[in-house]
Amino acid sequence: MSRAWLIGAGPGDVELMTLKATRALAQADVVLVDDLVNPEVLQFARADALVVHVGKRGGHPSTPQAEIVAQMLEHVRAGRSVARLKGGDPFVFGRGGEEQQALHAAGIEVEVVNGITAGIAAPAAIGIPVTHRDHAQGVVFVTGHSAGSGEPDWRALVATRMTLVIYMGMRRLNDIAGTLLAAGMAADTPCAAIESATRPGQRHALAQLGGLADAVARAGLGSPAIVVIGGVASLALARAAANADAAGAR
Ligand code: SAH
Repeated sequence: MSRAWLIGAGPGDVELMTLKATRALAQADVVLVDDLVNPEVLQFARADALVVHVGKRGGHPSTPQAEIVAQMLEHVRAGRSVARLKGGDPFVFGRGGEEQQALHAAGIEVEVVNGITAGIAAPAAIGIPVTHRDHAQGVVFVTGHSAGSGEPDWRALVATRMTLVIYMGMRRLNDIAGTLLAAGMAADTPCAAIESATRPGQRHALAQLGGLADAVARAGLGSPAIVVIGGVASLALARAAANADAAGAR
């Protein structure tokens, strides 16, 4: 019987993919691959699998969501097993929820295989834990790209005093930082932006909230990147300072 999976490929580093993900991938006749998926993960797919890139990076036009779902339905109905590969976790800002709904509506069961989301992996890649008893009692994953569901209530988020982990926030970073400052967040709140985390091109910038947008612009960071705002980011700052000291002592 044909099967359908929504698989999280993790943040980039192939070794951060789950065993379950690699096993599901190895069973698929068709693999529909998203933008942010590291192509190296396709080593786990069958050599004879049909691989379709549906992402907008790398010069391909983005495939509309309805078209992706239509392709999945077509293959499953033709008796082929389909793996839908997404960056990070399929249910964190990946539209996996929408695809699951559409498949369910068409009477097709879909198995979800979690992946490590960039919002945890990217901070960790530079030593930032998203929670820490001394700094934050919780973490908020939020999109900086407001399309679809409206603007997040940034003022309410500031009031939680939790770590803010912002996905898709680079283009509007200046606005977001300004809104957080206006909502009363301290200008010296530690922040980090991490681009292409867990990949060979990983880069980051550390700054205080008041200088975040400038620091990111100076470092020339762009998408894909995760922005971390809150006391936990000081743990990376401490490490970067220690590294600078070590370099100075050499
Ligand atoms: N489902 C994905 C998120 C998709 S939204 C997940 O769980 O990780 C796309 C956003 O994820 C990007 O704009 C960026 O904010 C973030 N992202 C994904 N991969 C990343 C990486 N390797 N490094 C930094 N940010 C990443």
